[in-house]
Amino acid sequence: MKRKLIAGNWKMNGSLQANASLLQAILAGMGAAPACQVAVGVPALYLAQCHALLAGTAIDLAAQDVSAHEAGAYTGEVSAGMLKDFAVRFVIVGHSERRQYHGETDEIVACKAQRALASGITPIVCVGETLAEREAGRTDEVVKRQLAAVIHANGHCISEVVVAYEPVWAIGTGKTASPEQAQQVHAVLRAQLHAASEHSDRIHLLYGGSMNAANAAALLAQPDIDGGLIGGAALKPQDFLTIIAACA
Ligand code: PEP
Repeated sequence: MKRKLIAGNWKMNGSLQANASLLQAILAGMGAAPACQVAVGVPALYLAQCHALLAGTAIDLAAQDVSAHEAGAYTGEVSAGMLKDFAVRFVIVGHSERRQYHGETDEIVACKAQRALASGITPIVCVGETLAEREAGRTDEVVKRQLAAVIHANGHCISEVVVAYEPVWAIGTGKTASPEQAQQVHAVLRAQLHAASEHSDRIHLLYGGSMNAANAAALLAQPDIDGGLIGGAALKPQDFLTIIAACA
């Protein structure tokens, strides 16, 4: 059985001092052999700081975005090659906040996943429906379309990605998908990955959307939930540690 993966997404939060205290508290509480694989997704500007603080620890470094381009005249962008220089292990692509506020299409997200894979970085590909889409009964159609673009662009490399199901209505809202609702969508995504790759079993399917210390164990107990992508609770060391422990 594969180890679960708990990845924090700090979003646009932090400072030199806050990052150092947060990581110190997580490392002190986690010990050298955590119950699962652990990563923190930090703002790009703090990758160098966190790279230094995490060297030799059991926490992997993640970035929150990557350019769809390899190099060149793309002001403000950060390439996959640059992320690799700081030993970034994962990069979140297609987060709903980027789809919504930065106009990222399925094709752009697929291209970003491709760039990451080409540099040896594992993309954490986010998919998820809005409340209106769920209420219209379109959840499966939406998440399958988002994932299909990534499968199409990445061919046999698809077994190297991580997929995060993040219902948009549950992100940062305190509303969580019930374990049954989440499992139902994870099963749909698992079947789609299975049809695309003979190695689909090794793909981590994370749930994200108001996962917290109180609901993590029930979500993580579902057969197709292989971990979590954690926003708000990743900024609270004790809550993040409880979620990690729930993987045992
Ligand atoms: C996220 O931003 O990926 C996320 C899941 O946020 P939250 O846990 O705060 O809902």
